[in-house]
Formats: sequence, C-alpha cells, structure tokens
Amino acid sequence: MENLKDDSICIHGGYKAKSGESQVLPTHQSTTYRYYDPDKLADLFDLKEEGFIYSRLGNPTVAAFEKKMANLEKGIGAVAFSSGQSAVLSSILNICKKGDHILASSKLYGGTITLLKSTLSNFGIKVTLVDPNLSQKEISKKIQNNTKVIYGETIGNPGLNILDFEKFSEISKKNNIVFIVDNTFATPYLFKPLKHGADIVVHSATKYIDGHAVALGGVVIDSGNFNWEASNKYPSLTKPDESYHGIIFNEKFGKQAYLTKLRVKILRDLGNTLSPQNANLLHRGLETLHLRMDRHSENALKVAKFLEKHPKITWVNYPFLESHDTYDLAKKYLKKGGSGVLSFGIKGKIKSAKRFMKSIDMISLVTHVGDLRTSVLHPASTSHRQLSDEELEECGVKKELIRLSVGIESCDDIINDLKKALKEV
Ligand SMILES: *Cc1c(COP(=O)(O)O)cnc(C)c1O
Repeated sequence: MENLKDDSICIHGGYKAKSGESQVLPTHQSTTYRYYDPDKLADLFDLKEEGFIYSRLGNPTVAAFEKKMANLEKGIGAVAFSSGQSAVLSSILNICKKGDHILASSKLYGGTITLLKSTLSNFGIKVTLVDPNLSQKEISKKIQNNTKVIYGETIGNPGLNILDFEKFSEISKKNNIVFIVDNTFATPYLFKPLKHGADIVVHSATKYIDGHAVALGGVVIDSGNFNWEASNKYPSLTKPDESYHGIIFNEKFGKQAYLTKLRVKILRDLGNTLSPQNANLLHRGLETLHLRMDRHSENALKVAKFLEKHPKITWVNYPFLESHDTYDLAKKYLKKGGSGVLSFGIKGKIKSAKRFMKSIDMISLVTHVGDLRTSVLHPASTSHRQLSDEELEECGVKKELIRLSVGIESCDDIINDLKKALKEV
C-alpha cells in the first residue's frame, strides 16, 4: 500500500487490519507491553531489536499515525510529539546544543519565534531571523561556522509568505546544513517539502491534520537524505554516545540515525509524548484531509476575492491573490491550492477590527486555525501579543491584521456572515 495516491493514503495509510482484527485503528490504551523472556526485553533496551517497551517511547496507535504521516510526506519515518511546539523544539534539540546557531526565516509562527529567540537563547542556542525574501547572497551572509539548522515555514503563519524552496535548499546544500521546514499550513496534501530540498519536516498536527479542533499533537518526519558524516557538523550523531554504551547513531542506524536518536533520547529524556487517544483522533482526522484541504483552499480563495472588493477592507493577504508578495512562489509550489488561511485589514484599524469580531455570528472567535469551522483571530492582541512592535513588523503581522481561517461550510454562508459583520463596522 506504500504506493497509493495521497487520497488513498489518507484513508488507508498507517494501519491495515489482519484477518479478524478491528477494521478501524484501535486505541492501545496501555502504558506498557508484556514480555516473557527477559533477554528479549534487554535487547530492546540496547536497541538491538525494535519493539514496544513503554509508551513514553512508542505505542502501536501512535506508531500508526507516525507511519501515515511519513507516507504522506514521503519520508523514511516519523516521530510524534505531544504538540507542534514540542515537535519544533525536539527537531532542533536533536542536533543542536549550547553554542550552536540557527538561521531562520523571520516569517514564522509567533510561538516558534519566542521559542527560538527567548527559550532556546536562554539555553545558549542562538538564532538569527532573516527576511526570507532577500537574495540568496544576502541570506547566505548570515550563516556562521556554528550554524546547525536552516529553518522556515512553507506558508508562514500568519503572514502567509511562501518560502522559496529552491533558494533555501541551495543555501543549505552549499553549506552542508540541515534544512527544517514547518509544513503545518500547507499539509502534505498541498505540498511536500522533502521533494523540494527540505531535509526534515515538522508539523503542528493540531491544525489541519486534526481538522476538527479536538487534539493537540506534533510530528517530525525525516527524508533520510542528509549526510551527517560528510557534513561533519553533527557530533551527536557521528560520535559515540555515552548514554547508550558509546553507540554511534549514524554508524548503527544509517539513514534512521536522526529519527532513532529523536525517539530514544529526546522522547526518553523529555517525555513530550503524544497520547494514544490523541494519536487515534489525528489518524482519524487524516482520513478526510484531502477533501478538507480542497474545500478550505476553494473557499478561502473565494472569500479573499470577496474581501478584496469590499469598500471597508484596506488590504487582503492570500497566497493566490495577484497582489500577494509571494504570488509567483504560490503558483510555483502550491499546485493544489493555497490552504484555508487569509488575513486582512479593516478601515479604522484596531477599533474596527474589534467591532467586526463582536459582530460575527456563524464565524467564531477562537485561538485556532485549520478547523473545519470558519474562525477569526486578532494575532497582535493574542497569539503574537508577546512580540514587540518591531518583531511584529519583522514577521509580517500588522497591528490591525485579522486572521481568518476559512472553514468548509457553504461559502455563501461564510461570505454572508462577513458581510453582516462588516456592516456593523
Ligand atoms: C500552531 C502552530 C505551531 C505550534 O503547534 P501546537 O500544536 O499549537 O503546539 C507550530 N507551527 C505552526 C506553523 C503553527 O501554526
């Protein structure tokens, strides 16, 4: 079933019942796994064999979700985490330590910016945020000898900047540095970063992968293409690890080195594990990802075009509007659609934005995106509240920006609700 098309992987990926087993993925609600031979269990602990030991490190339901995600992204495997934040953090901690440096696009999710600039910085991992639309030469100038990660988002949240994969993957290849991409807004249905030069993909599965606003989760997927040995920048994968009897991850696990270390060291030591219940909900969410993403994209483009013509709207930001900064990149990379998120500004700035949010009816005011229900948020006073004016500007969030996550209801009803609310402004 590995070669099915995306629509079929969404439904059948990750789990296939054996004769007489339950047709639908069961939730293995167990923290632990029984063995009869102590030597077998010892071998599992020594990583000589694969199997489930304890659910902090792995669980059959979580494994099914990981397998489906790896298959959709065309990676060699995946490790799931308790949240998107946890996945982003873990993807970095797996290969960075005190004294290392990250070069990241400035057009990122607010939580990722505070993680990089504040929390990781306090642990001695420094970051440089760079405008992703600068030239290759200008971005390359920011690379340092200790740069271990190049980081970006396929579709920036909430600025919706489309990352130039050709440019970023060239910079990463020329400098032998891992290129990590957050593909949350695009999902593997609309875009596969690993096919465009990314080495590792991370997701907040909480958004479109879940799709129903019921579970938090995150996942990291590896392409298996990065040559750790040749780059000579990642001693934690290429030198003996004392916490595992001196094994060398790269030597022992080859292409699986990064993912194995992510599981047996990061999950083991940090314990930021996805629960089986949430894994099952996310696995279920994926079953309709293809249908939802088509509809989200279709509705969002219609709504963007409606807002663009509305007299009370000053600007609209959606990757498939010709006025968008990275419209050409959207056309180049997002062949199936621009996903469901757009942003806009209302005449009268913040005061009008608040009036608008008080006047919506079917559309809900929530801190979320990617749900099948249309929702709005004002990032400058909520999700991006901790950022300074300068940082807001840098990550592309104007103060009056309203983020609209267009759902999969009837587009007529969405537009009517917007019309009614705008009348009150
Ligand atoms: C929401 C989000 C995250 C964080 O994910 P959580 O599941 O909320 O922890 C990371 N990156 C992007 C792009 C997001 O939208």
